[in-house]
Amino acid sequence: MNRVIGIHQFKPDKVWKWKLLEQKMAQVLSLHDYQEIRLSVLQDYTEIVEGITALMHEDEATQATEGIVSLSPSDGNLSLLTLRPEGTISVLHYTAQIVKDSDVHRFYYIGPMFRKGKESLPSEFHQLGVELLGSAAVVSENEVISLGVKICQQLGLRDVKLQLNSFGCQDCRPHFFEDLHSFLKEHESELCADCFRKLSTNPFADTGCTNSKCKAVYQEGPMVLDYLCQSCRRNFSKVKKIQANLAQYIVNPKLFKNFAYYNETVFDFVIKVNGQEQVIGGGGRYDYLSRMITGKNIPAVGFYLNIDSIFETMERRGLFMSPDKDFSVFISTQSEDLDMMLLQIAQELHDNNIKTVLSTDKHSITDDIALAQKAQCELMLVIRDENVREGKLLMRDLIKEHQDYIKLDGIIDAILLARKSLNKE
Ligand SMILES: [Zn+2]
Ligand SMILES: [Zn+2]
Repeated sequence: MNRVIGIHQFKPDKVWKWKLLEQKMAQVLSLHDYQEIRLSVLQDYTEIVEGITALMHEDEATQATEGIVSLSPSDGNLSLLTLRPEGTISVLHYTAQIVKDSDVHRFYYIGPMFRKGKESLPSEFHQLGVELLGSAAVVSENEVISLGVKICQQLGLRDVKLQLNSFGCQDCRPHFFEDLHSFLKEHESELCADCFRKLSTNPFADTGCTNSKCKAVYQEGPMVLDYLCQSCRRNFSKVKKIQANLAQYIVNPKLFKNFAYYNETVFDFVIKVNGQEQVIGGGGRYDYLSRMITGKNIPAVGFYLNIDSIFETMERRGLFMSPDKDFSVFISTQSEDLDMMLLQIAQELHDNNIKTVLSTDKHSITDDIALAQKAQCELMLVIRDENVREGKLLMRDLIKEHQDYIKLDGIIDAILLARKSLNKE
């Protein structure tokens, strides 16, 4: 049985940061009228494979299929499942069911995705996916790109840069493919076998090769931007023109994507990590995918953000401001007969939005004070038989280290007053 690597265990010291990150993203998305969609972590294997490989050549499709974490049912049932490797395909299928003429839908999803990583071990990673479906207008590309930049900036990643390229359309890019193939054949001996194979099957492949010789060779090769038809050229100019007013960008004619389904505008979001450029997200237009997998024509544009990378960068840059600690009251009783009262008082405090920490065992008052301090409570209430009989409770201020009796029928008032004097309102 293979190990699953990169399993995320969210311990409490990380969860508050993770939630803050999600909240900030959700806020920006909501302002732009994007609705959250919650996709199942289990997906239909056939649907996913058909979606991912829809516009791939055979070699590449085999490789992509091998990267999916499929689940074999032990009861021999043939309907195979897979752990969700991405979200676009499910969103397209869902949209195809609900879309009516000229409807535009804006969706986003956040959550874990699974693929096989190093040594074919399954790995878990987190993604935000954003999709704008039903519009072929250039402005929708700008909307989505600006939204991605805005989210990064709101998270404090102010150095985020945009890189743009165009993959052309079905009319113009076949000429680029032809020329690239002849170029590759001519230079086969100068490229490593991997680069040659990947680029021959997908001219837009990100080969991931670090060999400087390979890089030098394909820097010389044909560039898709030189092959754009009039319409693609016009659209790309418009994207750049609008973007120039909104954010900094560079055109990177060598910006490639491993997913073959993009057309026209493609983009990456890049930040600097230890002086190196790191891609933290990206996306593009994918007008042809829906027709191929759903039978419906739904022009679309979308992007992903790699939340694991963003989280790490935010931690390293100290961008998570810890929230103010809640004011809280420690409550203890000195006998089991008073447990009912302990819970009633706690309930009354909760009704007034005051956080409580309850002592579960009976301790000496000194031990209880130590526990209350460890729990970082500001106040402590001690319920004792002899005091209750006289209609009072002991309240200790753990900050000012001072204590007093308060009336049983005035607990909330006394606590609110003490909180005010501690400026913890
Ligand atoms: Zn074109
Ligand atoms: Zn190479």
